[in-house]
Amino acid sequence: MIYLDNAATTKPNKKCLEIFNKINAERYFNPSASYSSSFSLNNEINEVRQKFIKYLGGEQNDKIIFTSGATESNNLAIFGSAVNKQKKYIFSLGEHPSVYNCACELKNRGYNVDFVGLNKNGCIDYDELELLCNSDVCFVSTMLVNNETGAINDISRIRQIIDKKAPNCVFHVDAVQGFGKINFSVLKSKIDLCSISAHKIHGIKGIGILYISNRVKIKNINFGGNQEFTIRSGTVNSASIFSFLTSTEEIYKNIDDNFHVVSKLKKYLVDKINVLNKELCKFNNEKEKIKIVSDENCLPHIVSIIFLGNRGETIMHYLDSKDIFVGTGSACSSNKVGNRVLESMGYEKNEVIGAIRVSFNPENTCQEIDVLIENIKEYILTINT
Ligand code: PMP
Repeated sequence: MIYLDNAATTKPNKKCLEIFNKINAERYFNPSASYSSSFSLNNEINEVRQKFIKYLGGEQNDKIIFTSGATESNNLAIFGSAVNKQKKYIFSLGEHPSVYNCACELKNRGYNVDFVGLNKNGCIDYDELELLCNSDVCFVSTMLVNNETGAINDISRIRQIIDKKAPNCVFHVDAVQGFGKINFSVLKSKIDLCSISAHKIHGIKGIGILYISNRVKIKNINFGGNQEFTIRSGTVNSASIFSFLTSTEEIYKNIDDNFHVVSKLKKYLVDKINVLNKELCKFNNEKEKIKIVSDENCLPHIVSIIFLGNRGETIMHYLDSKDIFVGTGSACSSNKVGNRVLESMGYEKNEVIGAIRVSFNPENTCQEIDVLIENIKEYILTINT
């Protein structure tokens, strides 16, 4: 198998699976119970919270809420902050469905919701955000790294834009695709709420975090036993929490090296794609057959590529038959028609239909990219003619 869909999910590393099994086998008791073993487990979980605050660059009295993943973290951040229908809530058009669909639901419930478009590089349109911001704005949500293009938003710049017009506005960042890949600090960028997920950094599925700065308060959106500071009820998932910490420690050990390795993979892929484009243009006597969406400022881990005159979905299925896994946009919304993110960047409907997403982890190799390219070429030149 050649796995090139790491933005959808990653292979869990051995250590985090071992910790998960160990805690479940040996310390399965409820950390909210009153026995001494539970008490010490709970203390250790609180230490884990402090470690995550450090990784995120926050302050000791900030909160870490453990959730079932970033979808839940995003829902909690958004619906937990939605308290005033007179105020304005701003989202970008590039957001993952777990944010975008919350924004649509807020609108359905009568909240005042506005969307900011993307520029041609896939970042939030900073000028449009500035125009939309005024003293009525109480909540802005933008992602750190786009899951389809790898575009990196300038989070500090966004906070500065917000602060000029709406200094008390709550700022939520979905950092799922950036956490463990690029360094950022919630304190430096004045991020109030931040969502992350373990399974994007070689951790297990089903555990995420909502970071809450000490400057803001949010309300609970579920009801139960009042765990997690009464913000998120449900028996605390000890094994997954320790496992998430392990995957985070592992990824942070090599964060710079990983970036370097993956940058080389991206360059190798882009060079190969450019050569293939020339060959296909010659073959078809056309000017352009392939467009690379992700530019040099994007996170190297994610590369979206458009094959003009082809369907990305069909290429994906052909590659699948050869045991090569790539994505077509967000795996969470693969049944959608069109592509909101690419269309917001200015691509035409007939172009976005030809898009596939290749996403790397540092263990991928240039040989795998060679096999990918050979198979895409074979598909376009022989199968799809
Ligand atoms: N936000 C982004 C940017 C993502 O890429 C994803 C996962 N595709 C999510 C949120 C949802 O994360 P989870 O799978 O942990 O619910």
